[in-house]
Amino acid sequence: MNKESVDVLVIGAGPSGTVAASIINKQGYKVKIVEKTLFPRFVIGESLLPRCMEHFKAAGFMPAIEAAGFQKKYGAVFKMGEKQCDFDFSEQYTDGWKWTWQVPRDKFDKVIADAVEEMGVPIDYLTTVTDVEFTGSNSITTVEDKDGNRSQIEAKYIVDGSGYGRVLPRLLDLEEPSDFPVRAAMFTQIEDVNRPDNLESNRITVVAHTKDFWVWMIPFSNGETSIGYVGYEKDIKKQNGNLEEQFRAFLKEIPQIPVRFHESEFVFEPKQIMGYSAAVKQLYGDGYVLTGNSTEFLDPVFSSGVTFATESARIAGELICKELDGEPQNWEIDYTKHLMQGVDTFRTYVYGWYDGRLQSIFFSDHIEQGIKNKICSVLAGYVWDKTNPFVRSHDKSITNLSNFLKSKTTQV
Ligand SMILES: Cc1cc2nc3c(=O)[nH]c(=O)nc-3n(C[C@H](O)[C@H](O)[C@H](O)COP(=O)(O)OP(=O)(O)OC[C@H]3O[C@@H](n4cnc5c(N)ncnc54)[C@H](O)[C@@H]3O)c2cc1C
Repeated sequence: MNKESVDVLVIGAGPSGTVAASIINKQGYKVKIVEKTLFPRFVIGESLLPRCMEHFKAAGFMPAIEAAGFQKKYGAVFKMGEKQCDFDFSEQYTDGWKWTWQVPRDKFDKVIADAVEEMGVPIDYLTTVTDVEFTGSNSITTVEDKDGNRSQIEAKYIVDGSGYGRVLPRLLDLEEPSDFPVRAAMFTQIEDVNRPDNLESNRITVVAHTKDFWVWMIPFSNGETSIGYVGYEKDIKKQNGNLEEQFRAFLKEIPQIPVRFHESEFVFEPKQIMGYSAAVKQLYGDGYVLTGNSTEFLDPVFSSGVTFATESARIAGELICKELDGEPQNWEIDYTKHLMQGVDTFRTYVYGWYDGRLQSIFFSDHIEQGIKNKICSVLAGYVWDKTNPFVRSHDKSITNLSNFLKSKTTQV
C-alpha cells in the first residue's frame, strides 16, 4: 500500500477544511486535503455572516472570492404576516464587517478550494477517508480513491473538516444527540428572471410562516434564488405529489413568497434533508481536532454554519501550528471554551426563534435602534463580543426584552 507523510492531514475541502489548510500552509507546514467528491459539488449553506469575512481574509481567499462576483449581502429581512423587520449590517453595535456574500456553495467552495491549491496545498479529490489509527503521537489514515485503490497518510495532526460526513465523530465514537428536536428542510434554486432591484436582492429574506415552519429566500448574483422550507418532518412532507409538486404547493400557499416564483424553472429537483442537528462529546483529542459541521450543528435559521466552520478552522489551524512549533496549547480554553461561547449564544437565539421570544422582538413597533444594533451584531456573527449584553447574558437579555416589548404592545 502506498504511504506518504505530512504534518497535517485535512479531511474535506469545504470552508472549514480549506481555511484550516491555508492557515497551516502559511506557517510553512506540510499540509494536504483529501476530499470525497469532485468539485464543484452541491452543499447547502448559502447565506454567509460578516464575521466569516475575517477568516476568509486571514486565509488569503479574499481576492479569489471578490473576483468571482458573488452577490453582496448587506443584511437580513424577517417577515411574519404583514410585519417586516430589516437588520442592516451597517447598523451594528460591534465594530466589524458590515457586509458579506450570499453564494451558491458549489461555485463558492470551488473558488476557495482552487485558491488554497494555488497556494501550494494539494487536494486529492474523489478520495475518501475510510479509517484512522492513532499511533502514539502520529496517526495513520487510510483513504480510498475512486477506483478502490487504498493508500495511507501519516500525519502529526488531523483536522476533520468533513462536514455532514462527520468522519472522526463516527470512527472515534464521539457522536452525541443534539438537544434540538428533529427538524427537516426542503430546498431548491430557481430561475429568478424578473427579480426587482429592491432591498431584498441584497439580503436573505426569512419568513416565519408558522411558529415551527419558516422559509428562506436567498438571491444570487447569477440570477438564481435559493428557496428553502424548514419545519418538522410531518409539515415538510404534508403536500401531495412528487418533490417538485410539493415544493410548488408551498410556493403558492405562503403569501410572503413573491408571485413571480410560482411558475419559475427549478435549477435542480428539490432536495430534502431530515434531522441535520448534531453534537459531539469533545472537539479535540491527541493528534486531531474537529472543525465546522463535524462538531456541532444547531439550526439553519440564523445562517451561522459557515461562520462556525471558518472560526473553528482558523483557530484550530493557529493552535496546531503553535504546537508543531513546540509550544503546548490550552485547547480546552482556547478552542472548546471559545467556540462554545459562540455556539451557546446562537443556541439561545435558535431557541428564541422557535419559542416566539425573537418574533416578539423582531416584529415589535417599540424596539429602540440601539438595542436593535446589539441584536444585529449577534446576527452578523459577532457572538464573542462580551461588551454586548445580548452576547454576555444572551438568554436573560432576549427574555427580558421580549417580555418588555410584549407588555408595551398590550398597553397600546
Ligand atoms: C437546511 C440547511 C441550511 C443551511 N443554511 C446555511 C446558511 O444559510 N448559511 C450557513 O452559513 N450555513 C448554513 N447551513 C450549514 C452549512 O451547510 C454548514 O455549516 C457548512 O457547510 C459547514 O462547512 P464545513 O466546511 O464544515 O463542511 P462542508 O461544507 O459540508 O464540507 C465538508 C467536505 O468534506 C467532504 N467529506 C465528507 N466525508 C468525507 C470523507 N470520508 N473523506 C473525505 N472527504 C469527506 C465532503 O464531501 C465535503 O466536501 C445550513 C445547513 C442546513 C442543514
